[in-house]
Amino acid sequence: MTDTSPTPAIEIANLTKVYKGGKQALDNINLSIPRGQIYGLLGPNGAGKSTTINILAGLVNKTSGTAKIWGFDIDQNPRNAKNSIGIVPQEIVFDPFFTPFETLENQAGYYGVPKDRRRSMELLRAVHLEDKANAYARTLSGGMKRRLLVAKAMAHSPPILVLDEPTAGVDVQLRQQLWAYVRELNRQGVTIVLTTHYLEEAEELCDRIGIINHGKVITDKPTRELIAMAQEKVVQVTVDRDVVTPPADPSFEKIELSDERTLTITYMKNRANAGQVLSAVQASGLSIVDVVTRDPDLEDVFLNLTAAA
Ligand code: ADP
Repeated sequence: MTDTSPTPAIEIANLTKVYKGGKQALDNINLSIPRGQIYGLLGPNGAGKSTTINILAGLVNKTSGTAKIWGFDIDQNPRNAKNSIGIVPQEIVFDPFFTPFETLENQAGYYGVPKDRRRSMELLRAVHLEDKANAYARTLSGGMKRRLLVAKAMAHSPPILVLDEPTAGVDVQLRQQLWAYVRELNRQGVTIVLTTHYLEEAEELCDRIGIINHGKVITDKPTRELIAMAQEKVVQVTVDRDVVTPPADPSFEKIELSDERTLTITYMKNRANAGQVLSAVQASGLSIVDVVTRDPDLEDVFLNLTAAA
């Protein structure tokens, strides 16, 4: 579901973070996350994902730049900004002496949600913890705790839910349950942002993916465009004589001379196949002596993009 409202869910401009001691975690990043989407913030460890999320959460002070959450500037309107976002942290932290029900009630209370508008039981049902409502949090399994964290982040009904590396150390079954619930929330209109270093996860879930590396945003595109980049295939053709001008053909996306006798040809696998590409080379009068093909996937796209930065 995509809200066509022009105000993005999250808008980050020229955001920079230098930690005490001099580590620059964010270098002038710009990001605009549309409302109504499932957005993936992707990047290797140490890229700056958590720093970004923690600045939005008010847990880390930025060095410079601006951030708006649901249109509210985190400096000028911190309370509204905070109320507009729910964050599921990486670390599991609970007061072990509260029950899941109490944990949610306390969280709602912290955000000033009146008693008659709290929905603790509804949230517990949604994350399949209804029967644990009155158990001590310390008796919950790791998976249950993680589900409780999601419910806790939703206790004040924010329009944006952020999940920071939600599946780190989570088994396959729980992951599926978590995704089902995240999709359901999104259908109900909640904008979802998740950070991950798993490309597959982002590809499966997200409408749009931003890639961050070394504190810089490398790309920010609809997932299908990133996948389209993964449609590129490369074939290296060695021919029988020196080539001065590489041949041209509609099936080639790009052709380069890697050395005098080696042509590196990129083609889109949804538009051409290796047979057509090789025939085109032969039709130009060259004889092929060797062929090497390579099949990039989204992982390659990611590596290429992060290596280029
Ligand atoms: P990610 O979440 O993408 O793994 P982080 O935002 O946690 O990345 O970290 C970005 C960079 O900032 C890393 O080099 C990390 O070591 C550094 N960093 C994170 N937190 C701190 C901190 N509190 N003090 C100093 N450096 C930090």
